Amino acid sequence: MAFEGLAERLQGTLNKIRGKGKVSEADVKEMMREVRLALLEADVNFKVVKQFIANVKERAVGQEVLKSLTPGQQVIKVVNDELTKLMGGQQSKIAVASKPPTVVMMVGLQGAGKTTTTGKLANHLRKKHNRQPLMVAADIYRPAAIKQLETLGKQLSMPVFSMGDQVSPVEIAKNAMVEAKQNHHDYVLIDTAGRLHVDEELMNELEEIKALTNPDEILLVVDAMTGQDAVNVAESFNERLGITGVVLTKLDGDTRGGAALSVKAVTDTPIKFAGMGEKVDALEPFHPERMASRILGMGDVLTLIEKAQTNVDEAKAKELERKMRTNELTFDDFLEQLEQVKSMGPLDELLSMMPGAGKMKGLKNIQVDDKQLSHIEAIVKSMTKAEKEDPSLLNASRRRRIAKGSGTSIQEVNRLIKQFAEMKKMMKQMAGMQGKGKKKGGFK
Ligand code: GDP
Repeated sequence: MAFEGLAERLQGTLNKIRGKGKVSEADVKEMMREVRLALLEADVNFKVVKQFIANVKERAVGQEVLKSLTPGQQVIKVVNDELTKLMGGQQSKIAVASKPPTVVMMVGLQGAGKTTTTGKLANHLRKKHNRQPLMVAADIYRPAAIKQLETLGKQLSMPVFSMGDQVSPVEIAKNAMVEAKQNHHDYVLIDTAGRLHVDEELMNELEEIKALTNPDEILLVVDAMTGQDAVNVAESFNERLGITGVVLTKLDGDTRGGAALSVKAVTDTPIKFAGMGEKVDALEPFHPERMASRILGMGDVLTLIEKAQTNVDEAKAKELERKMRTNELTFDDFLEQLEQVKSMGPLDELLSMMPGAGKMKGLKNIQVDDKQLSHIEAIVKSMTKAEKEDPSLLNASRRRRIAKGSGTSIQEVNRLIKQFAEMKKMMKQMAGMQGKGKKKGGFK
């Protein structure tokens, strides 16, 4: 999971200040020193770090923060706000042309994940927005790029326009536009050629395609694993082409995350999507505020719920969201969640979306395999209805009874109760933060 190191360090630093009833300017300064190091270690551009620290400091030492009733919490909120702002603030959605088709040029270096992302984006547009995109194979230089896009098209049962590798990309783009209009495609996704390095010839060619197709969106695909290089690449492409957005790929890998945190600040273009794996459905709209809370260990309940919605019916997910907000979560909900988790994806990724997961080391040890799940299930089933809803009833003798009844140990029962309490606490905090300024709906 990306950001793991950064998240751990930032959370460690923030935890020192979290519960403090009194915070001095010196405390903030000390904390900022640690935050600065954590960001630099995560490969965030040093100019970006400098500005970020200055912004946080200025706001955090303000009277309304230090003199507030919960200064520790307030400082963390400032860090969260600034981190969100750094990554673009609001989610930035993909363009929709007033007159179809919407033309999207996919650009980037070889190996960044351009072709894969073209397929993922086509899939996303169809699945989430009911669109009919035409993919265009205009990468005639990388051996097999055309074949790769055609294979993706077959896999998705979606059309791919290609003319082989003996025709110039500009010619291909021209013909593709005609085809898209004839067949009433509402999106045209052009997979352009990449190179190993930014070079003059490539830029000229991309400029020509741009002039010809007049794209609504020029999405730069960059590999998050390349860290600072990703930022430099973004700068060069932006200077020549004026990119409108960035897709950061390979955020599922073990990246330090610096690229995600710098690319918006340096190029002033938003990150629109994040690639989270090799499969065609591993593309997520990039939500700066959600990413910030994931990094700070406050979880990403909204993405979690969205994932759940594809596995659970909507009414149930809504009910869960309400319970999280109002802090009414019961052990039954907890159990149900774990059962769904099994079908929702890699556990560590999901855990990183749970509030306070970084702190809840114990939670990481719950392997949601059938055996352990059955233990948890047995424990929950051995509770009375009242106990499930109000864990404060669970005194020593009740815990003994539950352990006996479920055929588990007191330690296991204790662990589960503790994990549940921590999760509930974090969700309450999180809900408080998310209540503000949340926008719903729209195109993403
Ligand atoms: P292109 O040269 O830019 O068209 O790159 P490709 O689309 O061929 O991708 C290069 C490699 O990166 C392939 O092996 C992809 O499967 C892989 N890849 C692309 N996006 C992601 C991602 O988000 N996560 C992971 N783990 N791999 C990815």
